[in-house]
Amino acid sequence: MNDERLLRYSRHILLDEIGIEGQQKVLAARVLVIGAGGLGSPAALYLAAAGVGRLTLVDHDTVDLTNLQRQIAHTVARVGQRKVESARTAIAAINPDVEVVALAERADAARLAELVAQADVVLDCTDNFATRHAVNRACVAHKVPLVSGAVIRFDGQVSVFDPRAGEPCYSCLFPEDQAFEDVACSTMGVFAPLVGIVGATQAAEALKLVMGIGTSLAGRLLLLDGLRMEWTSIRIGRNDACPVCTGNNS
Ligand SMILES: [Zn+2]
Repeated sequence: MNDERLLRYSRHILLDEIGIEGQQKVLAARVLVIGAGGLGSPAALYLAAAGVGRLTLVDHDTVDLTNLQRQIAHTVARVGQRKVESARTAIAAINPDVEVVALAERADAARLAELVAQADVVLDCTDNFATRHAVNRACVAHKVPLVSGAVIRFDGQVSVFDPRAGEPCYSCLFPEDQAFEDVACSTMGVFAPLVGIVGATQAAEALKLVMGIGTSLAGRLLLLDGLRMEWTSIRIGRNDACPVCTGNNS
């Protein structure tokens, strides 16, 4: 590590749990962030500031004025730009060390599988169940840990689904064949700082997984009630009938 990096990451290196060894793991990490909106903005900015070596961002959308209330990677000057390009600019201004792969596309299942296979950890920062399930399937198939976040109105949730540890997958908790209400921020509204809280929590979990420190949220779902500012942690178990992670597709 050169002198500039030793300085830049000194407040990480000072932590006994991280040190130079942990920071080296972050610098070598390949992290996939799906969605460059409310959750993806803070998650990507923190991952970049922390020094993640390669950050792949996937989002087909462009920056809109209504995004700026909460999607902090974007700016007035970049309204109309691809979100991944806008986020790349924001990241370069903080840490030009980070290699950003900006993919302005709507990734289908085959593409997701390809991208997930090249990642050490995946962050689901999307807002629809179809993509969440496709991401989960790819993570289970390639045994890559998934850090999942969601926010709507004043409520947030965050968890880690780690197929390496035999912990439940996203589909164990939210089965694909059950009809869940697909409520998007665009129609229901969202309290701005909540995406920051949940997105930053996703970044923290991803960095811990990359470094192999602490205890991840695998097997636990954290629920945040933003109006009462109350966190609830609930244990979640493996669903023996889950068609995704039990390999029982018949
Ligand atoms: Zn499962």
